[in-house]
Amino acid sequence: MQAGPAERSAWQRTAAGANLLGADGKLGVTIFEEMTSLAVKHGAINLGQGFPDEDGPAEMMEAARAAILNGANQYAPGQGIPRLREAVAVHQERFYGITLDPWREVIVSTGATEGIAAAVLALAGPGDEVLTFEPFYDSYGAMIALAGAEHVTVPLHAPSFQPHLAELEAAFTPRTRLVIVNNPHNPTGAVFGRDVLARIVELAGKHDAVILTDEVYEHLVFGEPHIPVASLPGAAARTLTISSAGKTFSFTGWKVGWVTGPEELVARVRTIKQFLTYSSGTPFQEAVAQGLDYPDEFFRGIASALEAKRDILAEGLRAAGLDVFMPLGTYFITADAAPLGFDDALDLARRLPELVGVAAIPVSVFCHPEGAERTRSLLRFAFCKKEPLLAEAAARLSRLVDLV
Ligand code: PMP
Ligand code: GLN
Repeated sequence: MQAGPAERSAWQRTAAGANLLGADGKLGVTIFEEMTSLAVKHGAINLGQGFPDEDGPAEMMEAARAAILNGANQYAPGQGIPRLREAVAVHQERFYGITLDPWREVIVSTGATEGIAAAVLALAGPGDEVLTFEPFYDSYGAMIALAGAEHVTVPLHAPSFQPHLAELEAAFTPRTRLVIVNNPHNPTGAVFGRDVLARIVELAGKHDAVILTDEVYEHLVFGEPHIPVASLPGAAARTLTISSAGKTFSFTGWKVGWVTGPEELVARVRTIKQFLTYSSGTPFQEAVAQGLDYPDEFFRGIASALEAKRDILAEGLRAAGLDVFMPLGTYFITADAAPLGFDDALDLARRLPELVGVAAIPVSVFCHPEGAERTRSLLRFAFCKKEPLLAEAAARLSRLVDLV
């Protein structure tokens, strides 16, 4: 059936707000997809889409294989297999002292992405405002638009990419329903200080808003230990926390994530999740449960291996003439191409694979127009790659200086 003009324009509005349309108005693909395709086309080193070039622990792959052979091949329970829910609860207690009931306060999702989608759809709708920091991970903007809610942003300011507390306070209104926090932060690599997190909790309390905190990079921090929002005084009762096996265990393709929080909020997320995927990959859940039981040294080792990679890429980017904003978490570095004479990082990113054989992501795609202007010359590079590859990427980028 052909959609009438009114329907078509409503759909166009939703799709544009959700960043589903390309510049030509046609249905688009995400920036990650676009840059990965360009990298493949030009045989470039892909520092765009964030995925490691090495597999996670061999024992976990063995556990997934064993689970398949042992018959874990039919639907898992909608809320996730009990063993994984228990492992998530034990992990939260072990690292953060957060006590959860694995039966009521934990659900498994198909990656963090589904957790985000289900939570936004469950908690926000037309007439509601959803607050995020800016730049923001792309799926937040898309889901807020698909939920029909209004997206309000609070800028993060270079070089540390922290928010100004006065701007944070001013962004809250009586219609603020949901505040989405992402800490450590993609794309900037910022880690929010306790003062910022405490202020978010205080303001959410004052305005009776729910906090949705995306902590998928919780173990990828290079300084102070990670502070979960839910561990702060007054936060637990209004906070949903999301994490994922993709980052912690380097299995981005397994798409196993989880959502934790108070029973009533988790139940709402679960209700939506049932109609998105119903349940998530059974054998991978078995394997991730095993991984979550690894000793503390395993989790510390993830960050120290990545820190060395961060330093190699940062050094290479500086040597190539870019200004580097050193990340305190995640596996992304933000760098400014303006000192090389490139003011439009979106245009540069589209040409970079062909120009020098490296792919990166322009930070402006994580922003609304005003924020895009502020971040116009910034590029995001992923450093979850083998060290020689990072050194080679840096060497290739050093050719940029001759191409202006
Ligand atoms: N949130 C953030 C901040 C991310 O960076 C990513 C993936 N890079 C996700 C969510 C999605 O995680 P998953 O692959 O587990 O769906
Ligand atoms: N989250 C990954 C990144 O930021 C990509 C995930 C995706 O392709 N949607 O690079």
